[in-house]
This record gives sequence, structure tokens and C-alpha cells, in this order.
Amino acid sequence: MPDILVRGGTVVTDTGRRRADVLCRDGRIAALDEGLEPGGDTAVIEAGGCLVMPGGVDPHTHMQLPMMDTVVADDFFTGTAAAAAGGTTTIIDFVGPDRGQSPLDALAVWQERAAKVVIDYSFHMTVSWWGERFATEMETLVREHGLTSFKFFLAYKNRLMLPDEDLIAGFARCRELGALPLVHAEHGDLIVYLQNKMQSEGVTGPRAHVLSRPPQCEAEATLRAVTMAELVDLPLYVVHVSAAGAAEAIAAARARGAKIIGETLPGFLAIDESVYSDPDFDIAAGHVMSPPFRPREYQDVLWQALRDGVLSTTGTDHCCFTRAQKRLGEHDFTKIPNGCGSVEDRLHVLWQLGVNSGRLTPEHFVALTSTNAAKAFNLWPRKGSLDIGADADLIVLDPQRHKRLSAATQHQNTDFSVWEGFESTGAVVHTLARGRHVFADGDLRAERGSGCYLPRQPFGPAYQGVM
Ligand SMILES: [Zn+2]
Repeated sequence: MPDILVRGGTVVTDTGRRRADVLCRDGRIAALDEGLEPGGDTAVIEAGGCLVMPGGVDPHTHMQLPMMDTVVADDFFTGTAAAAAGGTTTIIDFVGPDRGQSPLDALAVWQERAAKVVIDYSFHMTVSWWGERFATEMETLVREHGLTSFKFFLAYKNRLMLPDEDLIAGFARCRELGALPLVHAEHGDLIVYLQNKMQSEGVTGPRAHVLSRPPQCEAEATLRAVTMAELVDLPLYVVHVSAAGAAEAIAAARARGAKIIGETLPGFLAIDESVYSDPDFDIAAGHVMSPPFRPREYQDVLWQALRDGVLSTTGTDHCCFTRAQKRLGEHDFTKIPNGCGSVEDRLHVLWQLGVNSGRLTPEHFVALTSTNAAKAFNLWPRKGSLDIGADADLIVLDPQRHKRLSAATQHQNTDFSVWEGFESTGAVVHTLARGRHVFADGDLRAERGSGCYLPRQPFGPAYQGVM
């Protein structure tokens, strides 16, 4: 692999910015200084007028996931290629054991699927069932496979939802092992009640999806999960916070000293529940995800929570389906596959809505798209930083370049985009993934299998309460 010198740009990290050139050698940052000279066979990327930042870390994706009688549209190749085109250089995806399946066996299946990644990746494990064997194998996952985060569902009754006693036992097991629990916080029983009510009233379209998952369901479940984490005494990561009441529950717990980390998604900062009233089924169903998009006024609450540090990471919950796949639920909203894309879009949306609007500084943008997630999941400073010795995962963003997001031009493997027509002033023009020039001014050079699995250590920064 040739050395690459990124020359003439302004280097921005979560802590500050300065003019500097960046030399990448053998997949790492080898030098960072002004006036670096390229050697004989060094490739040079001219970054004058541009910002050089750590590549995005997306802590929440679902590639190649079997769901509701289908499989999500992006596999680990197309999904990570799209990520690279959008400036993301690390994903953390989810291993999902079948009910009763050995978690270790499930990990082997997922590792095989992930062998075609274009960027580096790590895994969380979904605790899709609970029992002695699961608890036992968790130790092997943590100690031998570096899989140190476990996701628990308070929703999806009869599929993934665990009763409170299993959640408590699972949290306690995480605490013993130094693992970090994640929660999908929605009140599963209430949602089933409301879904049945909708169906009995003959409301079967996508609008019923949002009506059956009101924000109170998220607020209650968030408070419940946060309370469990406080009393079991361990950190907790709350995925995809969308409701004001959920952000408030996290803020209150953090004020009491609880080690709660909150994630939101770009979609919740920009898209509101009116999409479910669209007369075009493909558009309404294309936005079906859980939790759903919320009333517009919640967006200000979430921005404020990001500014206050109540929410400190952004993921995408990238889980995309085609229009044809969404039509599986044409006559029954509960059969619409849940999920939307965004792994390619996240940085552009946050740049435009965050930095260009003055809500975020470029440094805060780096924290929210990269560094904080790397810290939460103990990948920092190898990821999420541009320190000497860190992996050479970086982006060059041209703040003058115009970008328009669309299903027609995206690399995500679907014919739909929740960001159709979204325009950003400022675009990622180059992406380096561990020193490989994977995206070069519009040219995606995705090489199957070029990314690596990232094992992680337990008792990371989340346990120290530094976030
Ligand atoms: Zn998810």
C-alpha cells in the first residue's frame, strides 16, 4: 500500500482545528504537521480549502439482516461501500441469534456474512432470548471475541422482547463482564394492544404504524431501562432516541450521576410524522421504522439534547428495504418491514442541518459522527481520532461542494431514500479507510473483504463515566 499525504487542509477533531498535512503509512497516521513533503512514491491528495476529519463511526447498522420474511436490501458489501461513499469508515452491526440458538454459533454465521466488508467493523450481540447458555457464552464472547456490547429489546413482543426479570439478569451479567448493554426502548405490550386496536378499527395503512407507537411508549420504556441500569449500577446506551420524554428521562438520570449514553438518528432531527399520511404507499411505508418519526416540535428538543450532551452519539439504524419489500405490508401495516437507510447520508445531513445552520461547530460534528461513538464502544483512539498511530480512517470534506441526496445516485442498494432531494453545501470528496483510498472524488473503489473485524476490550470509557 503506497503512502498517502493529505496536503493543505484544515484538520478538525473533536477538540480543535489547525492547518496540517496528514501522512498515512501502513494503514496508520504516521505524521501530522505543516509542510510535510511527499516521498518518491507517495500519493498526494490535495485538500486545500477542505476539512480533514476522522472518518465516521456508525454504531448502529443492520446489514444482511433477515427480518419479517425478507432480508434487508444492503449486504455487508453494498452497505459498507455506501458507508465509505458517505464518509463512514467504521460500522458496528448486530449479531442476531435465532431464539434458542447459541450466540457463539450466531457470531460465526455473521462473521461469514461480514467477510465482504469494505471498511472496518465490530459487532454488538442482540440478546434475542435469555437463559443459562446465553449467560455462559457471553463470557466467551467478551473474553475471546472482543464482543463487548449486548442489545436488549423492550419491544417486538413474541420476537425479541424480554420480560423485565430477564433484562435485569442480563444487565447484571453485563456488569460482571464489563460489557455495555444497549436498549431499544419502547413498551412492547402496549404497542401490541394499540396495533390490535388499529386493526379492529380498520386502520391498516402506514399511518397506523405511528399511531400504535406513541412517544409515551418510548418515554416509559426509556425510564424503565434507565432505572434498571441505575439500580444494577452499570452504564447503559440508549439507541435511537426520538421522543422528548425519552431525552428527558436520560437527562434526569445523568443529572443524578447515572452513566447513560444517548444516541439519536439524523432522521429524527429532520423528518416528522406527517410522512405517514402521504397518499403514496411507497413513500409512507418507506418511512416505516421503529421508533417512528415524531411530531416536528420534538426536533428542537433533540437538538438541544445534543448541545447539552444528554445525547452524544448519532447512528443510523441503517436497515433498508426496497419499495417492493415494503409492499409486503400493503394490506397490513404490521407486515411492513421496519427500517430505513441512511448509512451513506448521515454525515451530509448533520453537516447541513448542524454545522451550516450554526447549531454545531465542526468539532462537535466530529464528536457526534465519530469520536463519541468510538469512545462509547471502546474503539478510541484507534478510531475517532487523528492522533499519530491511529488508524488512517479519515475524510476530506469540501465545505463549498454541493451534494444532493437521492435514491437515483446513492450507493445504498435500494430504490428509495428518506432523504430524497435533500441538499447539502459541503460534501465528502475523499474517504480513506485504514489508509486505503476507498472514495476518491466520486469514484468508489470498494474492494470486497478489505475491512477488518475490530475486537474490543470490556470495561471501556462508558464504565468510567467519562461520557
Ligand atoms: Zn436497530
